Amino acid sequence: MPELPEVESVRLRLAPLLEGRRFDTVSILDARLTRPFDPREVAAELEGERVRALERRGKYLIVRFESGRSLLIHLRMTGSLRHGDGGTLPDDPYRRAVVRLDDGSDVAYRDVRRFGTWLLLEPGELDPYLDARIGEEPLVESYRARNLEARLAGRRAPVKAAILDQRTVAGVGNIYADEALWRARVHPLTPAAELSPDEVRALHRGIRRALQRGVARQGSTLRDYVLPDGESGSMQDEFKVYGRAGEPCARCGTPIDKIRAAGRGTWYCPSCQRFHANGR
Ligand SMILES: [Zn+2]
Repeated sequence: MPELPEVESVRLRLAPLLEGRRFDTVSILDARLTRPFDPREVAAELEGERVRALERRGKYLIVRFESGRSLLIHLRMTGSLRHGDGGTLPDDPYRRAVVRLDDGSDVAYRDVRRFGTWLLLEPGELDPYLDARIGEEPLVESYRARNLEARLAGRRAPVKAAILDQRTVAGVGNIYADEALWRARVHPLTPAAELSPDEVRALHRGIRRALQRGVARQGSTLRDYVLPDGESGSMQDEFKVYGRAGEPCARCGTPIDKIRAAGRGTWYCPSCQRFHANGR
């Protein structure tokens, strides 16, 4: 599933192609994309809107229109966006929507599992919508360890579950959670509230470093994730733990172990990331 680095990579590629352009025609081919709203009505509302900016919050792509409205796109499990000259994109049985821009190019939305969503918001609706669902952006300058500490305080849940919660920190999913915890030398099952101040600082740094590496590598392509021009990301080539059970830890050589945490496959180094609870 696309996480912050994948969505940011899509945004960086698409922004120059979308900004300033008008949505000329919009076809929404799957009613699940816009439910509970009628896809024909949403498509009709989108036609004629001109893009002011393409932004991102957490795992959401935000198409901000000059009208003050915004289209909030969440790729969920398998959503992706492709851009190409009008009519040149290959046929695709999983295409769920197509936008023809006023320069004649197409932006097509593909989604195999169909969990992705397009939500058209009226002026003033965006910030309350996002504020109710996601926490701070981890890659902005102002994001500090104390922001993370405040969100972890008092939580008995395993730290892995806590950082997968989008209200703790925006944009971290299963891959970058494991990578961040390895960087921080924190065991994924440590109760969130029992991290020492040093561990919280290390996790804050680990989250930022893992996500920054992901953005630099333009995300990780494991299955469905693809950039708008059809290229792949390469972050999968530098995963430290994710998907690497039995391979040696890059820091100490101990074989990486796989467990379940927060209901998800979780990879970690049993030597570098020691379990502790109730202080130490
Ligand atoms: Zn290790």
